[in-house]
Amino acid sequence: METYDYIVIGGGSGGIASANRAGMHGAKVLLVEGNELGGTCVNVGCVPKKVMWQASEMLEMIKRDAPSYGIYPHVETFDFAELVDKRESYIDFLHTAYQKGLDSNHIEVVRGYAQFVDNHTVTVNGTAYIGKHILIATGGKPSKMSIPGGEYAIDSNGFFALKQAPKRMIVLGAGYIAAEISGVSQQLGSQVAWAYRKERPLRTFDHMLADNLVEMYQEAGIETYAGYTASSISKEEETFTVTFENGATLTGDCVLFAGGRVPNTDQLGLDNTDVTLDEKGFVVVDKYQTTTVDHIYAVGDVIGKLDLTPVAIAAGRRLSERLFNGQTNAYLDYDLVPTVVFTHPPIATIGMTEEAAIAAHGEAIKVYRSRFTPMYFALNDYRQKCEMKLICLGKEEKIIGLHAIGVGVDEMLQGFAVAIKMGATKADFDQTVAIHPTGSEEFVTMR
Ligand code: FAD
Ligand code: NDP
Repeated sequence: METYDYIVIGGGSGGIASANRAGMHGAKVLLVEGNELGGTCVNVGCVPKKVMWQASEMLEMIKRDAPSYGIYPHVETFDFAELVDKRESYIDFLHTAYQKGLDSNHIEVVRGYAQFVDNHTVTVNGTAYIGKHILIATGGKPSKMSIPGGEYAIDSNGFFALKQAPKRMIVLGAGYIAAEISGVSQQLGSQVAWAYRKERPLRTFDHMLADNLVEMYQEAGIETYAGYTASSISKEEETFTVTFENGATLTGDCVLFAGGRVPNTDQLGLDNTDVTLDEKGFVVVDKYQTTTVDHIYAVGDVIGKLDLTPVAIAAGRRLSERLFNGQTNAYLDYDLVPTVVFTHPPIATIGMTEEAAIAAHGEAIKVYRSRFTPMYFALNDYRQKCEMKLICLGKEEKIIGLHAIGVGVDEMLQGFAVAIKMGATKADFDQTVAIHPTGSEEFVTMR
């Protein structure tokens, strides 16, 4: 049986990043991947989503906005199948790029599903491997609908398998994926009906964001249904009918469910180890990503903390720095992680929501707001707003939250996140001279 310094289970965002970093520091590394390299992000997540989002932004710009500048382009054809083919070719190119990266760091890659036999040994396709250190980076998968007819609903993987846009799509769910796919699908030619259980979608986000989004989606023609909990789905020929607990029904030729994700821990043979899972099956780790076994670690979606690619990558790299490069105190701080929801327009957010900040700090919170029409819409009859908010704490007005929805905010957030992570105050923002005319200047000129 071959022994490795580091066995990494899962060749997605976290696993590849951690394996490469360990290899760079000279560790003997085995990476096990049961599917395509790149994991969720590359194959059925961030990458295909961003391609579809960009295509839908282009269509929106051409159809909705170009005429306001006296430009009258004619969209002769939009070939959904061609877009999907080109997207998949790009993903193939990324597979090759990932393999090259692993090769250059001398990572041995085994294709197959790993299972633990004991705390030090995993088997893949019947061969056993011993690891001095073992990383679980197996990610997650979409949760299933547990209602009668739930099997008729596709999930985000099913969305990326579509070769043509559904005519009428019913989207069920209230998080990132439901919000993103609703916007993208409407722009790419489907009539979307978005139904969510509670009063607003994206409930864990600052309420200003979801409230604006729903208004903008309605303006774009998306039907939104608040307080709609699905109780069953039926199928007749090619038409699906979703029945809701309030008695209402919606019909369409496609139903998509996006109600969260579950971890890939059920098939891992973890019963043969002393690794502890929580009640939902996520791996329990400490701040150093160490499980209840001191040489087994977990990063990424499988720990159920913050399901974002850069989070998995950062945690994986820091772990390898700690294990193989003497950085004994390296760990990822999960506080103040910036994130973007690729809706139309996008949402950018970091830190505490106004609701959470007031609940925690009461009158010590001061909120600054700006609501304006970006110059992009200056010549347009349709004057979509951009809304921004800064959440400040205490006399020094330390910025503990920043939230925005509007054109271009996706590309604004990263730089502000650096400042906020460094502890910036409102006065620091005010000291910074604005860039005019941009949307981002609002963040340094709020009164
Ligand atoms: P994964 O990337 O899921 O990788 C896990 C890998 O482990 C998989 O390749 C799987 O095949 C493999 N595996 C599982 N079990 C075994 C086993 N027993 N043996 C061997 N291999 C195994 N995040 C962002 O930051 N920005 C975005 O825009 C974004 N968009 C998203 C859009 C969608 C539709 C989805 C679903 C997710 C999106 N995410 C986004 C989240 C992001 O994709 C994940 O947070 C990220 O991929 C998690 O990385 P990971 O390494 O933990 O797991
Ligand atoms: P989320 O966790 O974002 O949201 C799921 C929501 O759906 C729940 O909060 C709940 O909201 C609702 N829901 C849950 N169960 C049901 C049900 N049975 N019926 C109807 N609604 C239900 O999950 P997603 O699947 O959207 O995304 C998974 C994760 O992937 C995200 O959390 C994110 O971390 C990551 N991701 C990141 C992206 C990005 O960075 N841009 C893009 C896509 C995904 P409620 O209780 O209000 O009904």
